[in-house]
Order: sequence, then structure tokens, then C-alpha cells
Amino acid sequence: MTRYSAWSIFKNGLAGQRNWRRAWRDAEPRAHYDIIIVGAGLHGLATAYYLAANHGAANIAVLEKGWLGGGNAGRNTTIVRSNYMMPGNRPFYEHSLKLWENLSHELNYNVMFSQRAHITLLHTPAARDAAARRYNTMRLTGSDGELWDLDALKRAVPHLNYDNARFPIIGAAVQRRAGTARHDAVAWGYARAADQLGVDIIQNCEVTGITRDANRVSAVQTSRGPIRIGNAGKVGLAVAGNTSRLWAMAGLGKLPVETHLLQAFVTEPLKPLLDQVVVFGVGGAHFYISQSDKGGMVFGGDLDWYKSYAQRGNLPAVQDVAECATSILPCLGRVRLLRHWGGVMDMTMDGSPFICKTPLANLYLNAGWNYGGFKASPASGWYFADLMANDRPAPVIADFDLGRFRHGVNIDERGAGPDPKLHG
Ligand SMILES: Cc1cc2nc3c(=O)[nH]c(=O)nc-3n(C[C@H](O)[C@H](O)[C@H](O)COP(=O)(O)OP(=O)(O)OC[C@H]3O[C@@H](n4cnc5c(N)ncnc54)[C@H](O)[C@@H]3O)c2cc1C
Repeated sequence: MTRYSAWSIFKNGLAGQRNWRRAWRDAEPRAHYDIIIVGAGLHGLATAYYLAANHGAANIAVLEKGWLGGGNAGRNTTIVRSNYMMPGNRPFYEHSLKLWENLSHELNYNVMFSQRAHITLLHTPAARDAAARRYNTMRLTGSDGELWDLDALKRAVPHLNYDNARFPIIGAAVQRRAGTARHDAVAWGYARAADQLGVDIIQNCEVTGITRDANRVSAVQTSRGPIRIGNAGKVGLAVAGNTSRLWAMAGLGKLPVETHLLQAFVTEPLKPLLDQVVVFGVGGAHFYISQSDKGGMVFGGDLDWYKSYAQRGNLPAVQDVAECATSILPCLGRVRLLRHWGGVMDMTMDGSPFICKTPLANLYLNAGWNYGGFKASPASGWYFADLMANDRPAPVIADFDLGRFRHGVNIDERGAGPDPKLHG
């Protein structure tokens, strides 16, 4: 194993960069594993890593139908924050932010976590009151949060549209510890760290069936042959937008999850323009923007408002986000859009996730990340690993179970009721 350090860069530089090892092995599937994680996105890879690192688990495989990090992990707008308020979400996302703060050291891989501040623009007194409640709750529960008046906002972000906006800006709610990270690097960092602990990450290996023996999973069928699970073996699903498909393979009927398309956009590189993440949402608009380290303006908006498995962009969404962009940052009017793309989101009926047991004794579910699972990935892996290792949920994730819909105790953070398409 090569430990990345200033010394290893220096040494390899002298050797003409010829001695770097592969960051992870290209593992071949074995006939049997004790633990199988389906999906090498952020949540699957983080789970495998924490299973090995925190719980000493061994004989683990992560099965990925494409390439690791090729799903939503590599398609998101990389915003990391913990400005959630509801019991359940609050401690979970705060724990996640704390893990982010040390993640590069933990993984010995630079995930480029940049705590550049997350600024939510406020346009009405009602929005300011709601933000005051939320950000005070955050402060009272050990996080950071601030309300800025217009002067403070103008000093920090001088070039927003303060003069003739359709929705005048009256201030902002700010979390300074929030920011962005490099999404690919997070996937690669978890993959490398998990591989070093003996986890087999098997790409181009699609799970096509789940074989049951009464109330247990006994094997998974894959495009590279069947893989058996031992008597004490366990299977974890971490397949984001494909969750309903895997759930159906296990013969478990319907889940309260819908799959919707979310798109992201990047412009040509610009000189430094925006130091923070800025969020704009009022009167039907929903828009968030930051500037990447390469200079591109990275932004996104709403879901497409209908169910889809299509992982591709489309033009109506371009118009929507371009309107939002020019309405709050008119200086972007002549900037060229370089690329846009889409990912399939696992939307739940209350906007909150599942990290829970399932009706099958050795099958575990990690899903329902809506459009917020990037920031959640360290804590999601941490608690999903804990659940799989100990076969009981830690108190922090006790409410992230399927039973909350049966018992009527939804964690309705989005205030959108049982309707994913209203989550915008
Ligand atoms: C455009 C966009 C913008 C976003 N912006 C943000 C943001 O700013 N902040 C934030 O917190 N979140 C954001 N998200 C959400 C976040 O990216 C996701 O919630 C999160 O990545 C989902 O978890 P994951 O990484 O494990 O999923 P994925 O990366 O999708 O991983 C699931 C994996 O499972 C694999 N898989 C599926 N079916 C099978 C099968 N049958 N067999 C084997 N493998 C299978 C897939 O190929 C995929 O690699 C955004 C998402 C999108 C699409």
C-alpha cells in the first residue's frame, strides 16, 4: 500500500512517476462472500469502508453494475451542509458534516472539502422567520448558523441582483461550515481505503436477481455469475435511483420510493466570481450555484416533475435554470453553458431517507436520499455499517425506517407531504 504524502509525491517525482501503485485492485468476483453491498456509489463504498474499519468485518464485496462512482456519486453538484432541523435528520446530518471535516485525513485522500459557506437567500419576512427558527435550532444543537441582513450579504456577495430583482433579496441564512467537495475524489478515496482493508470492489457486475431461502437471502445472481452468501452472511442495498428494482428482485413488493430525474449544469471556466454556495428559491424557483476549482459555474434546479430512469439532461431544464441564474446573477447572461447531465434520484414520500432492516432477516436497506445524499454519504456509510454489523439501528437512525409511514411519524423536512414531485 502507498500512503499518499508530500514525501511520496517527491519520491515518485524523482522516479518519473513510474512507481505509483493502482489506487484499488480490479477484483474478480469470488463464489462466496460474508457481506455483499450492492452499488459502488458513495453510500455503498462508505459502508464497506466503515464495516471493515469500524467493525473489523472481512470477506466483503461491493458489486457495481457500471464503474464505481458512475451513478449519482459522480453527477451531483457537491453541496455539503447540515442545515436540517427535524429530530432524526438534525443529529444525522451534523454527524455527517463532522465526518466531512476530517475525511481527507481519515481516507488519506484529498476529497477537496472546501468549507466556503452555504448562503440561502431570503426574499420575504415569512422566509426570514422560518430561517430564524431553523438556524436557531441548529445553534442550540451544536451546529453553526447565522442570519445576515442585506448589508452583510452585499459585503460577502456584491454582484447579486439587488437592484431590480423580481423577488427582492432581504437577507440570507448562512452556514459557514458548509461548502463543497470533489465528488469523484470522495468515491475514489472511499474505494481506495476500503480496498486497502481487503474489500473486493467488483465493477461491471450487475445484480440481476436475488435468491431467497425462506426469510433470508442465500445468493445474488449477477451478470458475472451467482455469488452465495454464508449462513451468517448479509446483503446491503445502496443503489439510490435503482432501489425499487432491487426491492422487486427480492420479492418484496412496493417501496414508498419514486425515481425522478435531477440535472446539473456547468459553464465555461471563469475567473473567481463566487466564493460561496448560493441558494435561491422563491415563487416556484429553486436554484443553487457555486464555482468549481477549475472556474466553471456549477448549478442545478428542480426535479423534472415526472418519474423516470433516464440518466440524461433535457432542454426544458436548461431554460429553467438559465432563467434562475440570470435573475440572481445577471452577470452570467453571456456565459456559455458547457455541459449538463442527469442522475436518477430515490425520492421518498417525506424527503427523508431509509437506513433500516427489511422484511428479510439478512437484507438491509440504504435508500431515499432524494437530492441530498452527497452530503449524507459519510454518516450514511457509518450508520449503515453499524446497522449491518450489529443488526440493530443506532439511536440516531432509529426513525429512518420503513415503519414511519405505517405509524404516521414521517420526518417531513421538506413540508411536501406524500408527494416527491413537490419537494423542489
Ligand atoms: C444532478 C444532481 C445533483 C445533486 N446535488 C447534490 C448536492 O449538491 N448535494 C447533495 O448532498 N446531494 C446531491 N445529489 C444527490 C446525491 O448525488 C445522491 O443522493 C447520492 O449520490 C446517492 O447515493 P450514491 O452515491 O450511493 O448513489 P449512486 O452513485 O447512484 O450509487 C448507486 C450505484 O448503484 C449501482 N447499481 C444500480 N443498480 C445496480 C445493480 N442492479 N447491480 C449493481 N449495481 C447497481 C449504480 O450503477 C450506482 O453506481 C445530487 C444528485 C444529482 C443527480
